[in-house]
Amino acid sequence: MEECDAIVVGSGPNGLAAAVVLARAGLSVRVYERANTIGGGARTEELTIPGVLHDVGSAVHPQALTSGFFRAFELEKRVKFVVPEISYAHPLDDGRSGIAWRDLDRTADGLGVDGAAWKRLLGPLVDRADEVAQFAGSQVLQLPRHPLTLAMLGLRILEQGSRGWGLRFRGDVAPALMTGLAAHAIGPMPSLATAAAGLVLATAGHARGWPIPIGGSQSIIDSLAADLRANGGEIITGTEVVSIAELPKATVVLFDVTPRALARIVGDRLPDGYRRSLDRFRYGNAIAKVDFALSAPVPWTDSRLAEAATLHVGGTRAEMAASEADVAAGHHPQDPYVLVSQPTPFDPSRAPDGTHVLWAYTHVPRGSAQDRTEAITAKIERYAPGFRDTIVASASRTALEMEQSNPNYIGGDISGGEVTIAQLLARPVLSATPWRTAARGIYLCSSSTPPGPAVHGLAGYYAAMTALRDEFGVTRRPYLGLQ
Ligand SMILES: Cc1cc2nc3c(=O)[nH]c(=O)nc-3n(C[C@H](O)[C@H](O)[C@H](O)COP(=O)(O)OP(=O)(O)OC[C@H]3O[C@@H](n4cnc5c(N)ncnc54)[C@H](O)[C@@H]3O)c2cc1C
Repeated sequence: MEECDAIVVGSGPNGLAAAVVLARAGLSVRVYERANTIGGGARTEELTIPGVLHDVGSAVHPQALTSGFFRAFELEKRVKFVVPEISYAHPLDDGRSGIAWRDLDRTADGLGVDGAAWKRLLGPLVDRADEVAQFAGSQVLQLPRHPLTLAMLGLRILEQGSRGWGLRFRGDVAPALMTGLAAHAIGPMPSLATAAAGLVLATAGHARGWPIPIGGSQSIIDSLAADLRANGGEIITGTEVVSIAELPKATVVLFDVTPRALARIVGDRLPDGYRRSLDRFRYGNAIAKVDFALSAPVPWTDSRLAEAATLHVGGTRAEMAASEADVAAGHHPQDPYVLVSQPTPFDPSRAPDGTHVLWAYTHVPRGSAQDRTEAITAKIERYAPGFRDTIVASASRTALEMEQSNPNYIGGDISGGEVTIAQLLARPVLSATPWRTAARGIYLCSSSTPPGPAVHGLAGYYAAMTALRDEFGVTRRPYLGLQ
């Protein structure tokens, strides 16, 4: 096989972002992807019936508009996004719901007794939303550029991440809204890591919103791949890299894989001490996913929920805390937290007329082999009686099947490693440049490095910039915008 300047193993959003940056710097770049299609956790496929497009992984993309990499890449000019007026919603019993509109005031108006408290919690962060996004998209060990914003965020994380999380609110709707967000981080609540995730997501929801790409997450991937190819890059699919020894010669190799896979693939080219650190990296709990094709929109009791692209179907704050504690203890909750996306009202191109797409997942213990179709269906049915009758087809993936589909999901952990404060600082090792491994020319660029999970391309961007600086003497970011 022909030599090249740079090889990227894995074509997830981070792998492709890395490849784009390297190609834009003028290097010859080749990407190897194990699957037959590119995109990792941001692919869109026909999972149920022909003509119905489901997001295999990511569905909603707050960071598509805020990530420093995607801004430089001018993603908004390459992919069409819809930004729903409702960022996320949260059904409760008796037809009640919490609705997080993009408009903070409108949200507060709907939260009754807790409207003012919601505004006091989030208003100062929303006013500094770009700075919050910038902090969330950075390596937290680096000196903060906006210490005041960090202090405001930090105080709120301490509050919402501790037993004092109930003090601010009097009703049950606002706490449920906030906890539905925090639960994205998959872990016992309250905790600092889940609170941080919740507050950052809430800030984005009231600032630039939670966009959905027309055509599904694959549109983001296709725009990255098109740019890479236009700049001479090559993508080889259907090729799993098992050992670094089988790769052609290259000055740098960037791995869009987990620390565990990096240690296995690179083997004794990594010093023992570094390999031991990789072995200590912890993986988190998992998800089980179900994709539905429906004959009608979900019949939510609160009809306003038809206008929400994303819903947290988890019940009250106490119910969500209990179900997440169950998962942490290794059990499958009776009454689980379910994350739902209903894209078709915003993007009819996903399915033929009259058919609707529903994407849902729930948290399960890592390594679970349990099909959660019934648990998810029953939970949605609680807030949308008659939902069951709209199901035309469904496709389920257990946590173990998630790992079979993408080895980056160890036991079904879709975050590339447990999301805790310790592992946000040391991801995968404690270093100001954790993308650089202990072996020269070898870099890690997956969501197991900062800034962690989500479709932002930033881990790939930082890894590529580190490699460019180390091995090619390039210190300035190449132009990444439209050519
Ligand atoms: C069900 C689900 C829902 C999600 N929802 C959202 C969401 O709504 N919004 C959001 O922002 N994020 C979401 N995410 C998270 C997001 O998808 C990931 O954080 C993101 O895809 C991580 O990107 P990555 O490039 O690091 O890794 P991945 O996307 O996992 O890509 C890694 C790629 O490397 C390939 N690979 C691995 N090992 C090898 C090897 N040895 N040889 C060759 N190729 C290899 C894999 O096949 C894969 O294509 C979701 C993820 C899942 C699974």
